[in-house]
Amino acid sequence: MKIAVFSTKAYDRRFLDEENEKHNHEIDYFEAHMRVASAPLAKGYDAVCVFVNDTLDESTLEILKQGGTSVIALRCAGFNNVDLQAAQRLGMLVVRVPAYSPYAVAEHTVALMLAMNRKIHRAHNRVHDGNFALDGLLGFDLHGKTVGVVGTGKIGEVFIRIMKGFGCHVHAYDIAVNPACEAVGAKYVDLPTLFETSDIISLHCPLNPDTHHMIDEVAIERMKKGVMIINTSRGGLIDAAELIAGLKTGKIGNVGLDVYEEEADLFFEDLSGKVIQDDVFARLLSFPNVIITGHQAFFTSNALQNISDTTLTNISLVEAGKPCPNLVVPEALKA
Ligand code: NAD
Repeated sequence: MKIAVFSTKAYDRRFLDEENEKHNHEIDYFEAHMRVASAPLAKGYDAVCVFVNDTLDESTLEILKQGGTSVIALRCAGFNNVDLQAAQRLGMLVVRVPAYSPYAVAEHTVALMLAMNRKIHRAHNRVHDGNFALDGLLGFDLHGKTVGVVGTGKIGEVFIRIMKGFGCHVHAYDIAVNPACEAVGAKYVDLPTLFETSDIISLHCPLNPDTHHMIDEVAIERMKKGVMIINTSRGGLIDAAELIAGLKTGKIGNVGLDVYEEEADLFFEDLSGKVIQDDVFARLLSFPNVIITGHQAFFTSNALQNISDTTLTNISLVEAGKPCPNLVVPEALKA
């Protein structure tokens, strides 16, 4: 197929080109994000390959369809950025990469948690500055603490296994119980109980209308004083303004974020030297007890190889008219 890859970085091109030796698709790379303004660039391409911060709303999809595109290949798991109903109406197929490395994301979650708890970012800067004082670097033992895990799918399960290795108690919440999590000792509780009992809360559920702003003023009010909140899932799970309010009162002790609701204009770009226009994000950056990474939890060589492999295999299966296990079907149509 003739494929237009959007939001391309050098690493995408490297891994896709390597994998394409097995598939022989005709691939062109575009640095632009996919949205209404850039959609005409895809004219004449059978498939469009996009990432997390591309926008495939109805208007964008209509332009793509007029240009001859029939396949949307997401090189990510989440599909909250695609209007699936519109894609269905236009007869476009949407494929995704449901799993590329739950280990990459779960391990990055742990990295944020440990760095935040032991203030590694601040300690690193201090030591480089010849300051070996320990004041302000006090952490706590993870052993024996209760970790609340919201979403116990592939990533949540790996994260729970790691936490059990640390000797933590795990309280879990999901709309569907994962028996493998129970088998390693996670205890399923309702969401308010998870908020009330956890020392650390980590989010691993998808963003959808039910989970949007699940961490809001009411949820924060229920939490233990000094709670640590980690989000490596999707920014929209947290109301960032309420998070800031909780940090200011000291109710929230530590925050680790790999995602941010308005990240599309920030993440994956080198904006050094530019003025950040998002005041909420700038305020979050100003807290000593907040660590933010720019949506890099997935970013391991293993994951990039798996993403490229699955993406091109998805497109090859669709081209051959064979069933593709990674087709995204709107919920209403599943029923
Ligand atoms: P998954 O589908 O295996 O698991 C998601 C789990 O969330 C499922 O068990 C599902 O039942 C549960 N869930 C759905 N609705 C829920 C609700 N209302 N409340 C609680 N739980 C609910 O997905 P996964 O592979 O584990 O990925 C989890 C999320 O991680 C993805 O949705 C994606 O947003 C995010 N992610 C982030 C990165 C990154 O680089 N930061 C990379 C990959 C995935």
